[in-house]
Amino acid sequence: KVVTRFAPSPTGYLHIGGARTALFNWLYAKHTGGLMLLRIEDTDRERSTDAATTAILDGLSWLGLQWDGEPVSQFARAERHREVAEELVRAGKAYHCYATPAELDEMREKARAEGRPPRYDGRWRDRDPSEAPAGVKPAIRIKAPRDGETLVRDRVQGDVRFPNKDLDDFIILRSDGNPTYMHAVVVDDHDMGVTHIIRGDDHLTNAARQTVIYEAMGWDVPVMAHIPLIHGPDGAKLSKRHGALGVEAYRAMGYLPEALRNYLARLGWSHGDDEVMSTQDMIGWFEIEDVNKGAARFDYAKLEALNGVHMRQSEDSALLEQFVATLPYIEERGAIPVDLNETQRARLLAAMPGLKERAKTLVELADSAQYLFASRPLELDEKATQILDADARSTIALLVPEFEKIEDWSAASTEAVVRAHAERTGLKLGKIAQPLRAALTGRATSPGVFDVLAVLGREESVARLRDQGA
Ligand code: GLU
Repeated sequence: KVVTRFAPSPTGYLHIGGARTALFNWLYAKHTGGLMLLRIEDTDRERSTDAATTAILDGLSWLGLQWDGEPVSQFARAERHREVAEELVRAGKAYHCYATPAELDEMREKARAEGRPPRYDGRWRDRDPSEAPAGVKPAIRIKAPRDGETLVRDRVQGDVRFPNKDLDDFIILRSDGNPTYMHAVVVDDHDMGVTHIIRGDDHLTNAARQTVIYEAMGWDVPVMAHIPLIHGPDGAKLSKRHGALGVEAYRAMGYLPEALRNYLARLGWSHGDDEVMSTQDMIGWFEIEDVNKGAARFDYAKLEALNGVHMRQSEDSALLEQFVATLPYIEERGAIPVDLNETQRARLLAAMPGLKERAKTLVELADSAQYLFASRPLELDEKATQILDADARSTIALLVPEFEKIEDWSAASTEAVVRAHAERTGLKLGKIAQPLRAALTGRATSPGVFDVLAVLGREESVARLRDQGA
C-alpha cells in the first residue's frame, strides 16, 4: 500500500509551494488508494509555533487535502531518534565524536582557506572513546561511506549520483541529545511506513545523506520524487508579489479551492493538453512520471482564468455555499453582510447565473453583487451619474408605469416591455438599458439588466427607478 506524507515545518503559513507539495502527495495517495500522512517537523523549537501549525492545518483543510490519521509531531519523537542513533553506535555504523567547538572551527577555517566546502575530517571515526577529553559532551556522527558514490533513484530527476568523498560523517545526534533534521526525517519516515517521498527538489542533496542513514540501518529507501520548485513569471525565485503567499491569501483573493487545486497540479504536472480538470480527473490521472523536470512558473492570469472557468462550471447553489463560506475572509465585501439571512441568500441564488458569468473570483462576484444589498436611494458612481441625464431620467419615468402593469414579472416580460418601448419611441435598446442599469445598480456595468430586474423583483425595481426617474 502506498503511504505518502507531507512534512511541513511550522515556521510560517502554508505557502503556495508547500500546498503544491501536499497536493501531489495527496493526489498520488488517492490515485493509488493509499494514505497521505501528515508530520509536523517541529524540531526547531526556536522557530516552530503553534499558530503556524494551526495555519497549516487550516490551509490544508480549506484546500480539501485531508490527511489520514493524526498529525505526527516530530519533536515528540525525539526519544526514538536518540534510540536509533545509539543503535547505530552499537552496530559500529556511527560513533561518538568529541571534537571541541574550537577544533570544528579550525576545520572550517582550513576548508575556507583551501576554497572547499567545510567537511568534518573524521578524526573520531576510529579513535578509542577512552581517549575522550574530560567534560566534552559527544555528538553522534554517522560513518558515511568514503569511496564510490551514493545513488538516489529519483522518479522525477532520474538517477542522481553523489560522490561519497563529498559526504562527510555528518551529525545525527547533537551533543545536547537532540537529533538533527536529517536523522529525524529518516527515522520518522521509516517508522510511519512511508513508501513514497514527494517533496521539493531543494531536498535532493539531503536525499543522499538520508540514503546513508537508511543503508546504515538496513532499511528500505522509500521511492523518492523531488519536484521542481515554483518560480516567478520572470524565472526568478517566487516573490511575494508574484504569488509566494500563504494559501489563506488565495482564499481572501476569492479563489475556489478546486480551482487552486487544478492550477497547482498543472504547475509542474501535466496530463496531455488538459488545462481544466476536476479533482476526480486529477486523481484518476496523477502519475509521478508525468511531473515535469523543469521549474514551473507561477502566473496569476492563468490562475484567474481557470478560477473563472471553475466558477461558471459550479452549480449555483454550490457556488453560493462557497461564496458564503468565503465572505468573512473577503475584505472587499462592501454592503454584503457576513451573516446573510434567508431572503438575502435566496436573492443571491437567483442572481447567481448572471453574477458568475462575469466574475473570475469570488471577490469580483462580491463586487458585482453589491446592487443586491444597496439601500435606497442608491449612491450612483460617476459613470452612472453621467448616464442618468435629463433625457435618461424621462425615459425611465415613461417606463415605470409600463413596468407596473406587468403581471408575471421576469427577465422575459420586462425585456418585452423595454423592446416595445424602443420600437414605439425609435430609441436604441442600449439607450434604454443603460439608464435602467444605472438606476437599478448605481453603476454602468452589471449583470444583464433584465436579470437584474428579475432578481430585484417588481417592487424594489420600481422603487429604485422612481428614485431616479421622477
Ligand atoms: N520540513 C521540510 C520542509 O518543510 C520537509 C522535509 C521533507 O519533506 O523531507 O521543507
